Amino acid sequence: GLADRLQATMQKIRGKGKVSEADVKAMMREVRLALLEADVNFKVVKQFINKVSERAVGHEVMKSLTPGQQVIKVVKEELTELMGGEESQIATANRPPTVIMMSGLQGAGKTTTTGKLANLLRKKYNRKPLLVAADIYRPAAIKQLETLGKQLDLPVFSMGDKVSPVEIARKAIEKAKEEHNDYVLIDTAGRLHIDGELMNELKEIKEVAKPQEIFLVVDAMTGQDAVNVAQSFNEQLEITGVVLTKLDGDTRGGAALSIRAVTDKPIKFVGMGEKMDALESFHPERMASRILGMGDMLTLIEKAQASVDEEKAKELEQKFRTASFTFDDFLEQLSQVRNMGPLDELIKMMPGANKIKGMNNLQVDEKQIGHVEAIIRSMTTAEKQQPEIINAGRRRRIAKGSGTSVQEVNRLLKQFEEMKKMMKQMTGMQQKGKKKGFKL
Ligand code: GDP
Ligand code: MG
Repeated sequence: GLADRLQATMQKIRGKGKVSEADVKAMMREVRLALLEADVNFKVVKQFINKVSERAVGHEVMKSLTPGQQVIKVVKEELTELMGGEESQIATANRPPTVIMMSGLQGAGKTTTTGKLANLLRKKYNRKPLLVAADIYRPAAIKQLETLGKQLDLPVFSMGDKVSPVEIARKAIEKAKEEHNDYVLIDTAGRLHIDGELMNELKEIKEVAKPQEIFLVVDAMTGQDAVNVAQSFNEQLEITGVVLTKLDGDTRGGAALSIRAVTDKPIKFVGMGEKMDALESFHPERMASRILGMGDMLTLIEKAQASVDEEKAKELEQKFRTASFTFDDFLEQLSQVRNMGPLDELIKMMPGANKIKGMNNLQVDEKQIGHVEAIIRSMTTAEKQQPEIINAGRRRRIAKGSGTSVQEVNRLLKQFEEMKKMMKQMTGMQQKGKKKGFKL
């Protein structure tokens, strides 16, 4: 896939001292092939490659970053650009109600997203949405939406499964006017595959409901299929935006790039879970990072450069790149890192952090940094170099010595372990010979 190809090429270039025009060309070849394979429109690919090549070859190389990283940065920036910089605005009708129609294949997440969107409209924009159950085919589809409505304490309009979806939509809008609901969210039926019957029904609903927004809901896990789905729906329905669901899974999200390029319609939201508050605005930059699989490493390095002096930043970068730091280094850098911002945010920016289960829950309380420092100071030199020797007895001793608890010591050791794992992923263990401190 796109992500893997890019990463393989990145890996080759990363760490290189100098990037030649030939290097850039080789890399662009990979990018081009991958994009074409991903069914991205040929013109878009060409434009993208031209833009990146131009910038990459002629780019002035920053002092403290290697040229290889600079090229990666350009690719990332252009990917971000390609996915659009628009904010996740939702249209508003001149005369209420604003009608939003959900479309997509079965299981994509339409019903769930209808609930999430209604929740967002009320919470963030103070709106009064009406949910409309227009999927009369899938067993229990109406019940599913009604359950969500009850859970959210929002009204759901339904007429059972004997009335046509078109009629349901018409009546729902009348009802919304009477009840002063300013948004109408129509949850439609999907099919397993695109078919003419489904499209015709959606077109009829569109004609009657005259929606301001037609969202296509796409499961991010479906990968390449998403491109065909997006293209068909866009051609036949003229969608206004895309909601990419199930990004909480381990997909790289390459679908986002293809969908955007093929439909030229913005990805407005991303689904990050099954719960009703798991709908987020789409951030092209984050998605570019995700596709590249590099976290926000560059942002992290830039941040480091901005807040600590050049020398120290280089050192930090080196540590990250060689993945060879010890608890001593950790302690030494804590004070520098502190100046860079909240620790948990920094950790999230680190490469691979999105791949580690529970990483988002990894809380590093600023107030606890003092404790962390105390714990490390209570370790012996051997323990700092080789944390694996810290057994139960040593943990108790360290806890006592630092005035903390065994649980806190355990937590720190675990977090340190996670960091090592991330660094391992990041460097691909390319630094085998350069052992400094303990081996990863
Ligand atoms: P529909 O057929 O398009 O209406 O799809 P549903 O809304 O019924 O969703 C299908 C399944 O996907 C359900 O089990 C949802 O809970 C799940 N789902 C929807 N959105 C997300 C998401 O963003 N993340 C995860 N993990 N699951 C989701
Ligand atoms: Mg549904």
